[in-house]
Formats: sequence, structure tokens, C-alpha cells
Amino acid sequence: MTSFHTLPLKAALLASVDTLGYNRMTPIQAQSLPAMLEGRDVIAQAQTGSGKTAAFGLSLLQSLSVEMIRLQALVLCPTRELADQVSKAIRKLAANIPNVKLLTLCGGMPLGPQLASLAHDPHIVVGTPGRVQEHLKRGSLHGGGIKVLVLDEADRMLDMGFSEAIDDIVKRIAKHHQTLLFSATYPEEIRNASRRLQRDPVEVTVEAPQETQPAIEQQFIEVESARKLDALAQLLTGERGQHALVFCNMRRDVDAIAEELDRRGFSALALHGDMEQRDRDEVLVRFANRSCAVLVATDVAARGLDINALPLVISYDMAHDPDTHTHRIGRTGRAGQSGLAMSLCTPRERPKADNIEQVLGTPLTWHPLKFSPPRGKTLNLAPMKTLVIDAGRQDKLRPSDILGALTGDAGLNASDIGKIDVFTTRAYVAIRRELANKAMERLRAGKIKGRNFRIRPLG
Ligand code: AMP
Repeated sequence: MTSFHTLPLKAALLASVDTLGYNRMTPIQAQSLPAMLEGRDVIAQAQTGSGKTAAFGLSLLQSLSVEMIRLQALVLCPTRELADQVSKAIRKLAANIPNVKLLTLCGGMPLGPQLASLAHDPHIVVGTPGRVQEHLKRGSLHGGGIKVLVLDEADRMLDMGFSEAIDDIVKRIAKHHQTLLFSATYPEEIRNASRRLQRDPVEVTVEAPQETQPAIEQQFIEVESARKLDALAQLLTGERGQHALVFCNMRRDVDAIAEELDRRGFSALALHGDMEQRDRDEVLVRFANRSCAVLVATDVAARGLDINALPLVISYDMAHDPDTHTHRIGRTGRAGQSGLAMSLCTPRERPKADNIEQVLGTPLTWHPLKFSPPRGKTLNLAPMKTLVIDAGRQDKLRPSDILGALTGDAGLNASDIGKIDVFTTRAYVAIRRELANKAMERLRAGKIKGRNFRIRPLG
């Protein structure tokens, strides 16, 4: 495997790569970066976890002229959550290049602050197609100097109906630009989009080599429709169910299943597109910080998850098509860790399983499910509990202030404290479940940064 130092990258970028501990290129990086750095268009089949963000991030930063105050790189993503992750990753890679201005522009967020932050052109914009299109139309964003356009998770963007917005964006930006297209799957629409938007692209598909290929065990379980929930509860019982993602095809099932699991003693939450952004953020925080054990989600909503290796992914309903199934199981067993993907299948859903079998080209492994009697009430509580503090960046509250208050006055060990997420007006901190009440009492009695903020537990 090759080192990044074999590439003609700026010293500042090589330094970032070293700081991030990337010793070798991932296969997708090794295959796509040389062509991207030559300025070629690239179409790459790459899943989350393949290192694709660093690949296009390094490439666009390499071609950036910081002294030119104009928009030079545009990255389009299907969801706000993904845009946030991509922005974070690019910021880390740009850490050693002074004065890079990057803006994240997504729908569902108020336009006013975005317009204010566009008073001076950023160098890089990461955003969702609808909102980026709107800014280009209004003239608040200027695309004339764009050198690189990245389409990340292009298949999802097309699934979500962003095709027209993307075509319109391309009409509104500099004619000569490099287009880098990343997609987990290659349906015909992606091939068409590539033909429309790219010039003589270099095609990159990576077979993960044996040693890094994540070991995903797939199990298919036939179950009668009426017993699906019991089957789900049974699959979630035990160690693996401490951090599991459950996919449903329909939004209304997501809520009902999460509630029922909760009633049966699991720390379960629902995630779907009908929820307010704030509630969605909160659910994502709680699942990531391990204070929710089971997340029940629709496919689209689950795109926002930034978690690398879930031990267990369950399809409560069979995915409608093999591509969606592949996306789902890609959530487990990443980064070299083993994972288990289980799919519940009713007799009526059998054709969908047959379809997946055909695409996989190997016979599916079917497992019988023996129902064992429930063992007492509380089955799977998450290891952590979340406390919300009604203060955030707006109050100049930083993670270190919260950590300081908990380990200082409140007398906790740093090892009892999990992830801390600070948003504009709120902050979330995960505490070992059995210590959460004590931590809250002590925090309420004491102060954070010399002030008293409202604090409450979630769940
Ligand atoms: P992505 O596929 O872009 O979502 O990246 C998956 C994860 O791999 C991220 O957490 C990156 O920080 C990490 N990563 C990217 N490139 C490398 C590399 N060359 N070596 C090790 N980790 C990497």
C-alpha cells in the first residue's frame, strides 16, 4: 500500500494527513487521487468508510488558491448531516493552510444567517443541492470561479429528486471545472448523470482487499408477519443489541416499533424525516453517545448517522431493492471490525429476498428463529444517559467547560463521561447511566463557567 508522500501534495496537506494518522492510502484514495490531482474527472464507486471524503477533500484543497477570495470548490451532499460531516473532515485536512474559508449551506436552516456569512465569498461550499441552487439563483453565491465540483453520494441525491437542481447548478457555475462523482451504487441514472456532467472520466471501482474487507455476516430470517416484533426483540437481546440500527420501510412503523421496544425495556429511539431538525439532531447525538441502544430509522433518515462500525444492523422490513439492502448492511462491520446484518423476511417479502440473492450471486443464508421465553423485564438499557444543558456556543460554552465542571465540582472521573456535543443553544453530555443522577444533582448545585444553566436528563 502506498503512502500519501508519494503524491504531489502541498506540504501543508501532507502534514495534516500525518497528524490525522493516515499512514497509507485506502484503496479508493490510491486509485482516485493521482487522476484527481491531474485535474481529470473521476467517477468512483465508493461507500461510506472507504476514505472517499479525504480523497476529494485533499484534491480540492490542493487546487485551492487561498489568496483568491472567490468560490473555487463546491461539494454537494444529499443531507445536512452528511454535509456537516464532510465540512468537518475538510476543515481537518485544511488545518495547516491558513485562512481557508469554508461554508456549509443546507436547506432546513434559516436563510438570513447564510446570506450574512456570504457577504464575502468563501473558498469552499459544502451543501445540499436545493439550497446551493437557491443561493446561486439569488446571486448570493458566485459560481464563476469554481474549479472543482464534487457530487458526494450521488445515487442518494438522485433518489431524493435532486437531479434537476444539480443540472441547474452546473449551468450556473464556471463552464470548465473538474467533476468528481462518488456513488455507492451505479444504477443507470448515475451512468446518465456522469455522461451529462463529466468529460472523459476516469472510472474507479475498488474491490476491498481480503484483509481489509469488513467481515459482514448476513443472516436472513423467515418470520410470520404477526411475530415480527417478537422476532426483532429477540434479535436485539444480548450484547450486540447494545448498539443496533433497525431499518423500516415506512415512517409510521418507525415510531410504533421504537415505542414498543421502549415499552419492552430497550433504550430505543425513532428517526425519520417528519421529525423537526432539532429532534433529529438530538436522536443522532443520543445514538452516537451510546445513551440510546437501538435506533429505528427509515433509510433516508439514517444517512445522517456518523457511526463507523455498528455491531448489528437489522432490516425489519426487507429493503425494496438490492441497492438499498447494500446501503443498509454497509452500516455494520466497517473499519475492519466484524458485523452482523440480519433481515427479517415474511413469506410475502420473499420475492425481495430472491431479488437480492440474484444480485449477490450467492445463495442467502437462512436461519430459523427459535423464540426463547423473555428473561425478566429490563433487557437492554444503553450504557450511558444524556444530560442536556440549555446553553451552547452562543453562551461561549465549550466541551472543556462541561468536562471541567463534571470532573471538578461534581467529582466524576473523566472515564465516566462520554461524548460531549455543543450546539448553538444547547449542549449534550453522556454520563455512565448509573452515575447520571448524581452528576445532574451536583451540576445543578454547582456552576458551569461560573453560571447556573438549566440541566435536565433525556430519556
Ligand atoms: P469516509 O469514507 O470518507 O466516510 O471515511 C471513513 C473514515 O476513514 C473517516 O473516519 C476517515 O477519517 C478515515 N480515513 C480516511 N482516509 C484514511 C486513511 N488513509 N487511513 C486511515 N483512515 C482514513
